[in-house]
Amino acid sequence: MEQHDRYVARAVELALENVGAGGKPFGCVVVERGSGEVLVEAANQVAQTGDLTAHAEITAIRRLAERGRTGLEGCDVYVTAYPCPMCLGALYYAQPERVVYVATREQEDRHYEDGNRYTSLATFYDEYAKPASERNLPAEQGEHPDPEAPFRAWAAAHPEG
Ligand SMILES: [Zn+2]
Repeated sequence: MEQHDRYVARAVELALENVGAGGKPFGCVVVERGSGEVLVEAANQVAQTGDLTAHAEITAIRRLAERGRTGLEGCDVYVTAYPCPMCLGALYYAQPERVVYVATREQEDRHYEDGNRYTSLATFYDEYAKPASERNLPAEQGEHPDPEAPFRAWAAAHPEG
């Protein structure tokens, strides 16, 4: 079996093990591209911890940060299913070389739904594509005399950008 296929298989194995442990069916393996070293493995921890952000990808990124590694440059990320919008956003911040997913959102959707009142697996990306005023999650701008003050302060403290 090619190394690549091993990481794919491992992502699924982590998800299956997690279901066996009472968790949700998602796993993530982060591999350093050059060495092929597995830097971290993680499974979704939402059911175990009650932390709604403890998806496998986020958990993997946090574990690496605890070890002093910020960002996933030079890494490939193997996941059980195409990332949800939260994890996709986190992966855009982390900037790996590539994401390899096993199941598509449609394949996942045939079996899994997490009961969110604002969105569903099938509509989550459409929701993000709407203008803010049309999204299901209510949001409005608060009144403040100087909304840009924190960002001006930041720019002043970091003149190099
Ligand atoms: Zn996620």
